[in-house]
Amino acid sequence: MATVVKIPVTNSNKEITVNTGLFINNEFVPSLDSSEVIQCFNPATEDVIASVVAGSAKDIDRAVSAARHAFKTTWGKNVTGWERSRLINKLADLMEKNVQELAELETLNNGKPLTIARDFDIEDSIQCLRYYAGWADKITGQTIEVDNKSKMAFTRHEPIGVCGQIIPWNYPINMWAWKVAPALAAGCTIVMKPSELTPLTALKLSELVVEAGFPAGVINTVPSLGSVGGAALSAHPDVDKIAFTGSTITGRKIMEAAAKSNLKKVSLELGGKSPQLIFESADLEQAAKWAALGMCFNTGQDCIAGSRLYIQDSVYDKFIEMLVSTVKATKIGNGFDEKSSGGPLVSKTQFDRVWGYIDSGKAEGAKVILGAEKRNTKGYWVDPTIFTEINADMKIVKEEIFGPVLSVGRFKTEEEAIALANNTTYGLGAGLHSTDASQCMRVSGLLEAGTVWVNQYILLNNNVPFGGKKQSGIGRELGSYALEEYTSVKAVHWNIGEKLKWPL
Ligand code: NAD
Repeated sequence: MATVVKIPVTNSNKEITVNTGLFINNEFVPSLDSSEVIQCFNPATEDVIASVVAGSAKDIDRAVSAARHAFKTTWGKNVTGWERSRLINKLADLMEKNVQELAELETLNNGKPLTIARDFDIEDSIQCLRYYAGWADKITGQTIEVDNKSKMAFTRHEPIGVCGQIIPWNYPINMWAWKVAPALAAGCTIVMKPSELTPLTALKLSELVVEAGFPAGVINTVPSLGSVGGAALSAHPDVDKIAFTGSTITGRKIMEAAAKSNLKKVSLELGGKSPQLIFESADLEQAAKWAALGMCFNTGQDCIAGSRLYIQDSVYDKFIEMLVSTVKATKIGNGFDEKSSGGPLVSKTQFDRVWGYIDSGKAEGAKVILGAEKRNTKGYWVDPTIFTEINADMKIVKEEIFGPVLSVGRFKTEEEAIALANNTTYGLGAGLHSTDASQCMRVSGLLEAGTVWVNQYILLNNNVPFGGKKQSGIGRELGSYALEEYTSVKAVHWNIGEKLKWPL
């Protein structure tokens, strides 16, 4: 049975109600055949806060047919851009109205500080919805001259159809908005599979979908294990597109499933091992703050975390001193403590994984200059940890860690800095700090990354595209570019005067 649970909010008398079923056709329903549940933990306390239904492959089928029906009847090409815009804006208004409760639920299930969830993640998500609401009635094709006397052609940017959206646990609300907003604006319908670690806010947002007035079946939410629901969605013959954010390993599986089923369109936003370069002319005090942000934001659980830092020899010692004192000011603590700027890691698995990397850094001979000490309390805590004296073969330098762990190296020349930065299979983000404008222009052009930050780091804007090069992914999110992921271009050739002579 689909049920409702009441989750007490830490340090207050409040409770948040959450539907724990599957959200299909604007209703919360039980699974057709699964008695499995997903346990949701509070990573700060390790307590179970709720259990939700773990959807099966049959449930994915049911959600896909609801989405297909809506696409053919009430959404897709059956609704004006103006109406899509109105509903997306309504959803944004409801998120704004419920911002505190959504943020509390995000903090309880993900661990991130309440203020970050509310003032960064959800604020940005509301803006994202409004940005794409603005696009919904402005999606246009081209009129193309073929032969002025006899023929013309034009293009229509049509909604691609039913979209499977598979999102991770590091930004459960934010990634939901990044995926849902452009898909709705383009006229697509959605089967959303939230991460099994953090399904609660996607279920809460589903309630707002009904309140906003979306027709049944436009947005469906199926919490499920990745290997069950995620795999079923990726291999589904009636899904037209998969949008995914998560690990490179899973991205490969999704691409393979798409290739083996119906060759559905795939966009992948995968991991990174993003470098930041500190040149000797940089404003070092500012650069230390941006480097600290790059390493610590979201406790390092960020695909664009600045996890490698290379400093020019001439300023190395001075910068290291500034960096360590800047990072020390970060407080990792319970998300409900107002002084916390970072929370715990999301799960025991991630905790073990990140500590495994810290141990490997020590074993491979890197030098710890900050952190690397376990707390003796409950919760999945990792304090900011900095390694120096690294080399390119170490695991901590090559692999994505997804925790607040930074590897620091040094360089003499600009060429060397660029070579170090690009020495990775990833290509998601890169940063450079310098007050030499020519150097900024030269280096930003040579860094192999989908996003390059100059004299800043990690901050994104909804109207600027985001995505990866190399093994960091395929396709772009945000900006007008994301609309291309959710539309397919139809060319219409129109004969206005040619008489066909036959036989040829
Ligand atoms: P993951 O890639 O397994 O999970 C992300 C999403 O993919 C989840 O919704 C999951 O249910 C789903 N999924 C898992 N297996 C699937 C499959 N076979 N088919 C379809 N969907 C599937 O990531 P994880 O195991 O939660 O984390 C492991 C590592 O991935 C992290 O340490 C980090 O390095 C990386 N990661 C990156 C991001 C990012 O923002 N790029 C986000 C989360 C994790």
